[in-house]
Amino acid sequence: MEFEPVIGLEVHAQLKTESKIFCGCSAAFGAPPNSHTCPVCLGMPGSLPVLNSKVVDYALRMALAMDCRINRENRFARKNYFYPDLPKGYQISQYEIPIAEHGHIDIEAGGKIRRVGVTRIHMEEDAGKLTHDPGRDRSLVDFNRTGVPLIEIVSEPDIRSPEEAGAYLREIRMILRHLGICDGNMEEGSFRCDANISLRPKGEKTLGTRTELKNINSFKHIEKALQYEIRRQAGILTEGGKIVRETLLWDAAKNRAASMRGKEEAHDYRYFPDPDLVPLVIDPDMLAASEKEVPELPGPRMRRFEEAFSFSREDARRLVSEKELADFFEDCLKSLNDPKQLKNWIMGPLLGLLNAGGNTIADLPVSPESFAALVRFVADGKVGAAPARSVLEEMAETGADPGEVIREKGLAQVTDSSAISDLADDILSRFEKEAAEYKNGKTKLLGFFVGQAMKETRGKADPKLVSRTIREKLEES
Ligand code: ADP
Ligand code: MG
Ligand code: ZN
Repeated sequence: MEFEPVIGLEVHAQLKTESKIFCGCSAAFGAPPNSHTCPVCLGMPGSLPVLNSKVVDYALRMALAMDCRINRENRFARKNYFYPDLPKGYQISQYEIPIAEHGHIDIEAGGKIRRVGVTRIHMEEDAGKLTHDPGRDRSLVDFNRTGVPLIEIVSEPDIRSPEEAGAYLREIRMILRHLGICDGNMEEGSFRCDANISLRPKGEKTLGTRTELKNINSFKHIEKALQYEIRRQAGILTEGGKIVRETLLWDAAKNRAASMRGKEEAHDYRYFPDPDLVPLVIDPDMLAASEKEVPELPGPRMRRFEEAFSFSREDARRLVSEKELADFFEDCLKSLNDPKQLKNWIMGPLLGLLNAGGNTIADLPVSPESFAALVRFVADGKVGAAPARSVLEEMAETGADPGEVIREKGLAQVTDSSAISDLADDILSRFEKEAAEYKNGKTKLLGFFVGQAMKETRGKADPKLVSRTIREKLEES
């Protein structure tokens, strides 16, 4: 029997706010354990939560980006459970009325565009972090993360393959980063995903029993974990067995999932509206302010780049993968209307430099105007491609102006025909044997002579002029 996988994803995105969701403690990552704490996030009796308005703004931006319906009045609820990383004994989340529902995004996988429904987006607080010390009989708890704001984005069971799941996650991550609300770092845990998966016979409409995979912390693992679980469930169903509704923990080192617990149900959590927090009313001004902060989204922007500049899908995707990079490209265009050359210089030398130094475009002291000026010098034949790369290196280090670097280092392209003629004579007299071979028909040696001339001038000679001059000299003598 052939089975169809059905997948629904729950994504937790940590919001990049300065402070936590219900207190003034810093939400920054990496501080000494328990240094970002106060009575509110430690759950001291009598302390009261105060909602951080930035969290609402960020959640609204994501809701708008995913075309959700926004609940003008929404509520916080307590999700009750005991765990040592949760000092209050409950997590403040949203349950019956989340901030947003009924959205969707379009994803592309295997050359097809598919729409995936978004059931809901809700705001909640993160729990603390437990460190188990296997060598010693103890666990450590760090409450710095307690109360750091999250949004949870729950998808409809619309995803049909591990590949689509990967595409969905990448798309969401890209949108979050474009909105500037989450850094999307899966390894550091600021972007996490639980995957629900079931199988059903091809053509069947009702959903099968699902399991939930937790603890998947990289894009590579998500597809692997789903493939594993598809094989496992298919094996059981083929033998006439039944899938047990349970939560599985993915073990990346062993490449398999182990049962963590039987599936908990909503009623196990005794949800109820949090009496310490009034219902949240989204007024039109708030909504308008958040709407202003939603830029052109990566999907439409990518398609616009493809069409307006005739870029390949891969090039457009790479440029748009980071908002800052796409913005840099478009700012350069304002000074130099040559999209193809700009794209080539950004994707090649510029990204090469950034990657080598482990930097992002935001760290670069090069303005779009001066980058465009450099590309214009190359296009106008004022500097060769190879010297231009070293000019760019200098610019990236010091923020210097390209014209000045070219002048100071004497890198301007030599286009003076008498200088090139002398250079050609010099090369041909030094390589007499090769010149003779050329005249006997080995014309591919032309490239060799040009290479020597470029080497001699450290890339400064105009290669076209050099090539033409040498060929003329060889053919007339
Ligand atoms: P829970 O409260 O247990 O997390 P939800 O109803 O909120 O359950 O659903 C969680 C996720 O599971 C959603 O992304 C949803 O699309 C997905 N899901 C629900 N039923 C199935 C199923 N039969 N197969 C695969 N995914 C499912
Ligand atoms: Mg869930
Ligand atoms: Zn606090």
